[in-house]
Amino acid sequence: MKNMYKRVLIKLSGEALAGDKKTGLDNETVHKICSSIKKIYDLGTEIAIVVGGGNFWRGRSSGDMDRTRADHIGMLATVMNSLALADALEQAGCDVRVQTAIAMQQVAEPYIRNRAVRHLQKNRVVIFGCGTGNPFFSTDTAAALRAAEIDAQIILKATMVDGVYDSDPHKNPNAVRYQTISFDEVLAKQLAVMDMTAFSMCRDNKIPVLVFSLEDPDNILRAVKQENIGTLVK
Ligand code: UDP
Repeated sequence: MKNMYKRVLIKLSGEALAGDKKTGLDNETVHKICSSIKKIYDLGTEIAIVVGGGNFWRGRSSGDMDRTRADHIGMLATVMNSLALADALEQAGCDVRVQTAIAMQQVAEPYIRNRAVRHLQKNRVVIFGCGTGNPFFSTDTAAALRAAEIDAQIILKATMVDGVYDSDPHKNPNAVRYQTISFDEVLAKQLAVMDMTAFSMCRDNKIPVLVFSLEDPDNILRAVKQENIGTLVK
């Protein structure tokens, strides 16, 4: 099929895995997302995934705890999500490897870029756990970093909103969604797409980001087929 992305990096927020429960893991939601990922797997798309941890923990909202320690907990949360995704993807029939930025070799492979690329070439889904492996960063930044390292064509940022709006659609009923927008325009209009570290990595390395909603998990399929959904930042 022409116009289909060949190698993508999917960024899933932790929250996306919690379903209506808002925290923790909702089994049914995880399976729904994974069965959509299986559809693009069957098309031969090379799939890397970075998953957040916000459904369990966010370092920056951890009260008076030392930030570095709080972020260590946050990174461990991403590993729980990575393992849950790996399990559901395997049940759906995908070949999967989890690689973590902090070594925990009894649980997952350590992150090795060339090895990750080799897995992708062999049509294995690669899930990157532990974000960047460093405190004070986000999993959005990890997504930008890994996308650059593995030469992903695009970051598919699956969120709870269906794109980037000119104002907050929850507050303004007349808010308008952009179909495409440039990195410079996002900056000039101070729109919230991702944190600045992640954003500037994408901009500097010319990695387009498609922001779309996971409310319908088949949007992942539409995104890979380059159908007109969400907002493309490029
Ligand atoms: N985190 C970190 N370094 C990273 C990525 C994540 O320290 O490179 C920690 C941080 O505490 C963060 C938590 O992991 O709050 C969960 O990640 P994030 O908030 O990005 O998850 P999401 O909001 O996407 O669910």
